[in-house]
Amino acid sequence: MSLLGHDLITITQRPETVFVEGHGAWLMDEQGKRHLDLIQGWAVNSLGHSPALITEALLAQSRRLLNPSPAYFNRPMLDLAAALVRVSGFDRVFLANSGAEANEGAVKLARRWGSRHRGGAHEVISFEQGFHGRTLAMMSASGKPGWDRIYAPMPTGFAKARLNDIESVAQAITPQTVAVMIEFVQGEAGVVLADPGFVRELRALTRERSVLLIADEVQTGVGRCGQAFAFQHYDVEPDILTLAKGLGGGVPLSALLCREGLNCFEPGDQGGTFCGAPLMAAVGLAIVNEVCRPAFLAEVRARAEQLSAGLQAIVRDHGLVGERGLGLLRAVELPSNDAPAVVAAAQALSPVGLLLNAPRPHLLRLMPALNISADEVDEGLALLREALRQVLA
Ligand SMILES: *Cc1c(COP(=O)(O)O)cnc(C)c1O
Repeated sequence: MSLLGHDLITITQRPETVFVEGHGAWLMDEQGKRHLDLIQGWAVNSLGHSPALITEALLAQSRRLLNPSPAYFNRPMLDLAAALVRVSGFDRVFLANSGAEANEGAVKLARRWGSRHRGGAHEVISFEQGFHGRTLAMMSASGKPGWDRIYAPMPTGFAKARLNDIESVAQAITPQTVAVMIEFVQGEAGVVLADPGFVRELRALTRERSVLLIADEVQTGVGRCGQAFAFQHYDVEPDILTLAKGLGGGVPLSALLCREGLNCFEPGDQGGTFCGAPLMAAVGLAIVNEVCRPAFLAEVRARAEQLSAGLQAIVRDHGLVGERGLGLLRAVELPSNDAPAVVAAAQALSPVGLLLNAPRPHLLRLMPALNISADEVDEGLALLREALRQVLA
């Protein structure tokens, strides 16, 4: 029996592999085997593994200033906030370290606004199957079955509606409702897309009822869906936006953005030791400046079309159920609960492995680096065919 990981608190079943090096689309293990990585740190490594842009930003910033304290301004904090304001159209930015932390901040900001302008309204409506993070409050906000029980008692103030069912939102709104929190593409639920019509109706309904719209773009933001932000696909303007995963390109960084009218924290209401620290902000600035360029985003859309077309061909040839997604956040639905077996077979392929994710037993999720090459997409598709052939034979 292997003792790999016996000093770690067990949180998940990991394959018996230790990864030691990554470059671009490729991840290498301790045995020297290469894997084409279509997980990329969970849709995190926007530019692939260890891109020069990040290593150079880290090196330069670490030589200059690591951490003056969150009580002081620092240059990367200011520059990243300005870059996010410029590309998003939002007015104000708070920097943090994880998606859950940014989402907690979004709920705090909405409640603060509710206490000032909506007579103490504080409830947040979120969606069944949604995912907003793993703090206690964000587990309450998430719609994962069972998550209301494992750490009970849970923070209250979160109601649930059904995605793409505007009636269910209308029914959930009470005088205490301050915000609706939505993922335009539910990533962890298995790449489930909100309908454009539903999102437009949701924006109109929330405006009419003076309820804020919080867009959790932790997974979909910063180029992942082929636009700088998924809300641009849907052509709506949320009141509050959260970003994390791709924003840091592999380092822990998140952001909470809001309109000027919501800039209502009092000094001391919100903060964090590492919030806005220059080392991570310098990386975020490099990522935003690279990924949110129109030419870069056009390339993401081209690779997404290529990947989608290739997956559709695989669906036809292997008798699968279908393929879906937005930009480079895509999923393939299998007719059986073989997705974990396909993931294992793909990683075990020789001489080159393929790394995929199975968010559901019948679903494969692909979230490659945004700068993956056309050849690497083709190679990934060929490896996926081989893994499917082995498992579904
Ligand atoms: C990953 C994710 C989170 C949580 O982010 P962490 O950095 O893990 O806290 C929240 N919302 C969405 C939509 C996510 O995909």
